[in-house]
Amino acid sequence: MKIITSIKDMQRYAQQLKSEGKSIGHVPTMGYLHEGHLRLVHEAKKDNGVLVMSIFVNPLQFGPNEDFDKYPRDFERDERLAENAGVNVIFYPGAEDMYPSKVLSVTVKVNDRVDVLCGKSREGHFDGVATVLVKLFNIVMPDKAYFGMKDAQQVAVVKAVVEDFNIPVEIVPVKTVREEDGLAKSSRNVNLTGQERQQAPAIYESLQLAEKAITNGEYNLNQIKNKVKDHILTNTDGKIDYVEIYSYPELKPVESMRGDIIVAAAVRFANARLIDNITLSL
Ligand code: AMP
Repeated sequence: MKIITSIKDMQRYAQQLKSEGKSIGHVPTMGYLHEGHLRLVHEAKKDNGVLVMSIFVNPLQFGPNEDFDKYPRDFERDERLAENAGVNVIFYPGAEDMYPSKVLSVTVKVNDRVDVLCGKSREGHFDGVATVLVKLFNIVMPDKAYFGMKDAQQVAVVKAVVEDFNIPVEIVPVKTVREEDGLAKSSRNVNLTGQERQQAPAIYESLQLAEKAITNGEYNLNQIKNKVKDHILTNTDGKIDYVEIYSYPELKPVESMRGDIIVAAAVRFANARLIDNITLSL
């Protein structure tokens, strides 16, 4: 496995791979790898000649009062896990190379799908995500890039970014990987206290209750959302950031219970804000 830290070296290597006719799969991550990330690697390995994982904790997508400093990091551990999973290249740039000047002369602004869910509670988050991904796609030059449905809003936004900017990369969504008790795997789970970790599966349970209610014919959105909120509030010490239901991937209000919808929740614990969702085809 190669480790590349320089942007120029990564671009040169990507160009070389392309000239050899090899397809490039890209798994963008912020590191502190877990089985969710490794599932993306597994999927990417199936259809690409070379697999590049980028590891970059992108300061641009964190708000001033968010957990950029507390975000877990362990490059040696990541290196080991990535190598065992069959990653061919880790692209591990420094923040000073990705953002050499304090004031960025150009950033990407996302206008649609960001007034809801995480876009609403994390102002500017998706602008930061879109900006770094446009850069990463220009550096790694992937044919396909893999994203987890745990971050379903991110998948919808990133698809719009590549479509609107005509970036020749296919975005491949991958199903959420969960712990045995249902909690969605997340790098942030290590920032839960023991007690919060015991409580956290209630988030996915609450989404399953919503799914059950909807498949049993409950079409009153407020009733469904209240059911989800009640379950979270009764079973955790977390504070609800949002529980919402939208059409997916448009992320618009649901008018009739038809088509694809998302039920999404975000819950704040003392040192970790967790998100989860289910998507349903009605
Ligand atoms: P992150 O390092 O948290 O930015 O995540 C990198 C990629 O892994 C994103 O596309 C995430 O959606 C994806 N991912 C994170 N957790 C999971 C999970 N539990 N299951 C599937 N994909 C995930």
